[in-house]
Amino acid sequence: MKKLIALLFVCLLLCGCSAQATVYHMNTVMTLDLQGRDAENALEAVDDLLMGLEKTWSATRSGSVLSALNSGADVSLTEEQAALLARVEELSERTGGAFDHTLLALSQAWGFGTEDQAVPSPDAIAAALAEDRIDLGGALKGYAGQEAAELLDTMRIDRALLNLGGNIQTYGEKKDGTPWNVGIQNPDGGDFLGVISVTGTASIVTSGDYQRYFEKDGEYYHHILDPKTGYPAESGLRSVTVICRDGLTADALSTALFVMGLEDASKFWQESEDFEAVFVTDDGTIYATEGAALTGCEFEVITR
Ligand code: ADP
Ligand code: MG
Repeated sequence: MKKLIALLFVCLLLCGCSAQATVYHMNTVMTLDLQGRDAENALEAVDDLLMGLEKTWSATRSGSVLSALNSGADVSLTEEQAALLARVEELSERTGGAFDHTLLALSQAWGFGTEDQAVPSPDAIAAALAEDRIDLGGALKGYAGQEAAELLDTMRIDRALLNLGGNIQTYGEKKDGTPWNVGIQNPDGGDFLGVISVTGTASIVTSGDYQRYFEKDGEYYHHILDPKTGYPAESGLRSVTVICRDGLTADALSTALFVMGLEDASKFWQESEDFEAVFVTDDGTIYATEGAALTGCEFEVITR
């Protein structure tokens, strides 16, 4: 995994109250945009936090805590690390296993984004499903956003907008008092489909079939896997965006709701109180739960 962090530019205004950077962590490009007296220090602190989380939780980096755990070593976890794993397990249970943090062998068998990406044999899929090595790829960026927001809370930062590889984390209120506006990507590329508005600190996380995929013999294989079949989830959805105050929950649920499909995901939302969601289906129809604050497009509303 690339270690290189490209600090493209750090822009400090005369008052020292604004800082931006583009960095590379967790296999993805991230942009950080902070305002407040401690902006420059906070930027460094957030960058360190992201790097630390990657070092700890990377499933591929030798020497990471997760690699040690996955190798069966006796690892003594910090309270924080143990709490994250416990919360991930809870989310797996809550989603009936649609979010499954034990899919490392399966993800590696498919190899999305690597030189070895290929359709595994049915035997290889069955063998991979029988393993339980941990992969936090479906939830770590959301957790990172939330941890970053908590860190900013301890510093003199007024507001921030973090784009962690498409996982958006807002912090604080915008200067002009208007909500943060976050675009929903068109799975086919091009302009945003619509805009979600949120106030204050929140996570807006999208899982889509267009983010990591390959094509083989005319078939399209994407990286969100159905733990029941071991194959890319074919749920009738192109993307799911989850809006939630808690980043880890947002990220795990975006993956899980994608696997569930519109009908089960809608029921799941009806039984929950901690998130809103926007769905884009295979035929391009957009559905939004009634609290989702979506504008700029036509959509069907999912009610309780
Ligand atoms: P992204 O990483 O592109 O933001 P997701 O949050 O949807 O997208 O996570 C997808 C990643 O999570 C995959 O690359 C894989 O590492 C892992 N994953 C795939 N399917 C599942 C699943 N059903 N449950 C949990 N993690 C998954
Ligand atoms: Mg996710």
